[in-house]
Formats: sequence, structure tokens, C-alpha cells
Amino acid sequence: MNIVLMGLPGAGKGTQADKIVEKYDIPHISTGDMFRAAINNGTELGLEAKSYIDKGALVPDEVTIGIVRERLSQPDCDQGFLLDGFPRTIEQAEELDNILSALGKSVEHVVNIEVAKEELVKRLTGRRICKVCGSSYHLIFKPSKEEGICDKDGGELYQRADDNPETVNNRLEVNIKQSQPLLDFYKAKNVLTDINGQQDINLVFADVDALFKSSRN
Ligand SMILES: [Zn+2]
Repeated sequence: MNIVLMGLPGAGKGTQADKIVEKYDIPHISTGDMFRAAINNGTELGLEAKSYIDKGALVPDEVTIGIVRERLSQPDCDQGFLLDGFPRTIEQAEELDNILSALGKSVEHVVNIEVAKEELVKRLTGRRICKVCGSSYHLIFKPSKEEGICDKDGGELYQRADDNPETVNNRLEVNIKQSQPLLDFYKAKNVLTDINGQQDINLVFADVDALFKSSRN
């Protein structure tokens, strides 16, 4: 099963990715992991990517696509794969189609974990960190026993600058703008399924699982 996983920050993509690869025994292919592996293995493309990353520059599309091609050609992808963080643009999606069709494959499912923006803001701004031990809490999902105080050492809890509402809102807006054309692209190809991400983690996965099962019959 060849899957592309999509979802905005805070939608719970990582959790669902873990569950999918475990149940279906396919590799989880994230852009970050792919870059790290190519660099560690010292492949030509990996070294090229590293030269850009070291400069703090964006890795050009042709290098990224080359690395994706190498990764998807590995034998562990024969029974399928879960792509996460790629493609990000329509150009990359078209290149992905080219890579897969050369391998006699195609994208079978694009799973979009959907959560309303207001809910994402709530999830992403609720994080609190202990000034003393660095323990992480969440106002809704993992509250401390006493508000603003660490359960372990009584340290003061604070909000990271990245988690303030304005920064979170901007991050989400950028992501929405970037992902919408891609969602439209896959919708037009009839491979996109929106999954309700605003329910219990296990129910989200049950919906994902039902989708894969129904397509196998
Ligand atoms: Zn603490």
C-alpha cells in the first residue's frame, strides 16, 4: 500500500504514522529521516544535500527528488510505504508520480488528518514547560496537578515563545496556504481521503484502518 500522509502541525500525524507502519509493516519515510540516512551513508546526493544544509540553505528540488527516488527504489518499499513530509508542492507531487510510475507503482492513498484551525491553535498553544526540569505539560491533555507548577519539583511552568498564539497562527496559515493546492491535486486524482482528526486517537486510526481495508477488497 503506497500512502502519502498529510495534516497540519498538531493534527496528530506522527501518532497515526506510528500506528500505520506498525500495523501494515511498511517503512515510514519522512523527509528528515531520508536526508539523514543519505548523509550518513555518504551517497552522492546525500553529500550534495549536506552542502546546502550546512550553509543553512534550502535543498534544491532536484536533490530532494533524487533522494526520494533512491529511497523508494529500496526493496523494503516493495510492499508499500508511508510518505510523510513529501511532497510539499504540486511540482514535487508530479515528480513523485514520475518516480513511482517508473517503478510500476502509484500513490494509492493520500490520507489527510483533518482538524479545525481553532482546535489546532488550542492544541499547539497549550504546552507548558518546567523551568527547573524541562518536563512538558499541556493545559488540556496533560495538566499539572496545580496550575503553573511542576508536579515533580514545584518549578514554575512557562510557555515557549514558539507556542504563543500569534506564532502558532502564522505557522498554521503558512501550512494551510502551502498544502491546499496539493490537497486539490490529489482530490482531482481521486486518491484523497479526509479523516476526522478531532476524535480519540484510536478512533482516528480506526477510520484510517477501515479505509485501507475497504480498498483491499
Ligand atoms: Zn519540574
